[in-house]
Amino acid sequence: MPNPQNDPISARHKARRLAIRRHTQRRHFRFYTRVSGWTFIQNVTTSPISWRAEHWVLGGVALLLTALVGIVIPTWASATRHDPVPTPYTTMALDLPQLPPGAEADPTIGAYGLDNAEPDWHVVTVRAGQSLSDIFHEQGLGATELQRALDSQGDASALRRIRPGQEFAFAMDASGTLTAMRFERGDATRVVLHFGAGDVTESTVERSVERRTNVAHGVVTRSLFYAGEQAGLTDAMVLKLANAFGYDIDFAQDLREGDSFSVVYDDVYREGEHLRDGDIIAATFINQGKRYTAIRYTNAEGETMFYTEEGRPLRKSFLRTPVEFTRISSTFSTGRMHPILGYMRAHKGVDYAAPTGTPIRAAGDGKVVFRGWKSGYGNFVVLQHNSHISTAYGHMSRFGGEQIGQHVKQGETIGFVGMTGLATGPHLHYEFQIDGVHRDPLSVTLPKPEPLPATQLAQFRKANAPLLARLKLVDSNTRLARAGN
Ligand SMILES: [Zn+2]
Repeated sequence: MPNPQNDPISARHKARRLAIRRHTQRRHFRFYTRVSGWTFIQNVTTSPISWRAEHWVLGGVALLLTALVGIVIPTWASATRHDPVPTPYTTMALDLPQLPPGAEADPTIGAYGLDNAEPDWHVVTVRAGQSLSDIFHEQGLGATELQRALDSQGDASALRRIRPGQEFAFAMDASGTLTAMRFERGDATRVVLHFGAGDVTESTVERSVERRTNVAHGVVTRSLFYAGEQAGLTDAMVLKLANAFGYDIDFAQDLREGDSFSVVYDDVYREGEHLRDGDIIAATFINQGKRYTAIRYTNAEGETMFYTEEGRPLRKSFLRTPVEFTRISSTFSTGRMHPILGYMRAHKGVDYAAPTGTPIRAAGDGKVVFRGWKSGYGNFVVLQHNSHISTAYGHMSRFGGEQIGQHVKQGETIGFVGMTGLATGPHLHYEFQIDGVHRDPLSVTLPKPEPLPATQLAQFRKANAPLLARLKLVDSNTRLARAGN
């Protein structure tokens, strides 16, 4: 409902508001800012300060590592590669996959080259913000070739939805005419389009994709990201770890030196080469002496999420705050002076001040039961979460995509902050009702998520016993190793 911002805004008041907003934003981004400052690369390579002895040593080590990666590993890799058909040539590592056994006999492979050789591929890596049309343009190729490529695909989503880092390869003849194009369709299929005089023909190579399980253990010293790096985790995997425990641990406020974690996770490999990070399978996090466990599990409804050892979802049923706010501009009260109407009136929700356009998220899974204009509330949405609990969201500048009767997932954007209806500034008015009674969203006891039903719980325990044993082993082994130092 409206908020109390109608008192004259003096310069002092304004400055204070700005300071509060800046403070909140600072706190908000401190986590990321702090961790980004702790990478090895920043400390060594981009440090603007003068180079002392240890910097030279580190620089030397970095150079040595570069040399190792550049020279020794490829040499070793080609030396250890098992070549099924011995040839008199020594081949250096190419960016092409090893062909599966029998693929040499496939007449579609190598059929486009005169001498049966691979075409002279020009490999292009997609940059942020680029479309395939941009890439074609950069290669001096026109809309006709692009259209021919798109038309050759029954489902062209692999060409229409491209991601930065993805690779496309083009082959052209001496006159600059496109003869072939290569790209990946999903993780496991490499596609080559052959541009003949007539139709575009396609050949594919299925590539073996496997997931390999890894174990990592880390102790927090400087930051979570630093600890993750020391434990051999990528930043993306550290984020997955933080997200898994994010409902229980506030990583910006609660993290302490000496906190530790153990993770069983997998990585996706394609033909023996690391393709991308996989998922966390199970993890423990000890925060300020308290142990949390996350186990990835797909329940009978087919939903995959993290559970505690007892089979309770880590994800809570409700978000405490459904918007990233700058400050709470009005709290729940049973009677207050209404800023616009000018008489005593209860404020049955919380007002979260936030810039116009800030996304408003569904506090929990539920069904849209109201979506429209409601006097005073302006653009208003009500979600029914179960037979007892509903939440309401007012003053939206505009709605999200959901319609009345539709189901929404927790965290889904249902609208955007605004000041429609009786409001003196952009904010979200948020209400929480249990059995039709308004409760204070800031202090109401949020219901615990339902644990797995007994039938599934037995299966869950059985399936995860080896994982838990493995995690405990990692924990105790590292403790022993540290004690032995
Ligand atoms: Zn309000």
